[in-house]
Amino acid sequence: SREIHLAERPTGYPDDKTWASVTAEVPAPAAGEFVVEVDHISLDPAMRGWLNDVRSYIPPVKLGAPMRALCTATVIASAHPEFAVGDAVVGTFGVRERAVSDGRGVTKIDLDAASAPTWLGALGMPGMTAYFGLTDIGRAQPGDTVVVSAAAGAVGSVVAQLAKAMGCRVIGIAGGPDKVAWLKEIGVDEAIDYKAENVLKRLRQIAPDGIDVYFDNVGGQILDAALANLRRGARVVICGAISTYNDPTLAEGPRRYMSLLVFRASMTGFVVFDYEDRYPEAVEAIAGMIGDGRMVARETVLEGGVDAFPDALLGLYRGVNTGKLVLKV
Ligand code: NDP
Repeated sequence: SREIHLAERPTGYPDDKTWASVTAEVPAPAAGEFVVEVDHISLDPAMRGWLNDVRSYIPPVKLGAPMRALCTATVIASAHPEFAVGDAVVGTFGVRERAVSDGRGVTKIDLDAASAPTWLGALGMPGMTAYFGLTDIGRAQPGDTVVVSAAAGAVGSVVAQLAKAMGCRVIGIAGGPDKVAWLKEIGVDEAIDYKAENVLKRLRQIAPDGIDVYFDNVGGQILDAALANLRRGARVVICGAISTYNDPTLAEGPRRYMSLLVFRASMTGFVVFDYEDRYPEAVEAIAGMIGDGRMVARETVLEGGVDAFPDALLGLYRGVNTGKLVLKV
């Protein structure tokens, strides 16, 4: 099996020295194990954080180990009572063609209900993040003004459409005219191109009464622009801060945090894994919306197999994706 291993911890953007392409033997499954053949690999902004040797919500990827990644796969050999040859599954199998698993953290998926890329996107971890971040942390209510950054991405596009379905007014922030056009297509009320417009001023124009929920995927200046435009009692959801992930210097903190005091607002971070017990609730809700046309699940699928992983990962930070970014193996 071809695998991508972590060779060296990067400072700044990962580069050629970060990764090693390795061929590994995959043993036959022992009792209680099975072997999968990976078909799609999820590219996640958080992968950059997993390379840092720091205390986090998950241990760092070990040097010399396969890169951690969520994948969809098919069981090709099994000595496990609950997984049979031919089962389609999703699990953290890593950036490799084949993997042995004991079944922990592995879920069966129905490929008739949705494609493998969708099971990594709107019906996968990003969809869960959108659902619980918006409802549980953001406590979005009908009539709220909801602003979401990286709005054309995996998490953001689900946040935007869930919020619309809940009866919120939705403002999406994304980079470039194509993404802005797509956001309008999927029903957001206003879309801001942060690469071409002054986000702080645009928000002030289109949300003069302020923002009730800001779902932050990017941090940095866009977070500041949102903080400058809160409404009393606003909830700022700290989902991610992709603008800082490859910054080797510690980024400046939010300069407008005193808005939290002025507007009696809260800023709360969360990790989707804490909601694992409730994933079925979110899958049912989002699948229902895809089924009746209220949700568009979109993915950008890259070709090239595991060896294309290093470049595919960098694509996230360049914004090559609309919807969920996945790599086909
Ligand atoms: P996306 O599909 O949104 O892809 C990342 C997008 O970020 C790119 O397409 C790009 O879009 C945008 N982007 C890249 N660099 C910058 C920048 N410097 N400034 C502004 N935008 C930028 O990824 P995900 O949906 O998977 O993840 C979105 C966020 O959610 C990330 O911060 C991630 O870490 C976080 N997350 C958090 C989880 C949690 O449990 N808290 C779980 C899952 C994800 P554009 O072209 O618009 O710039």
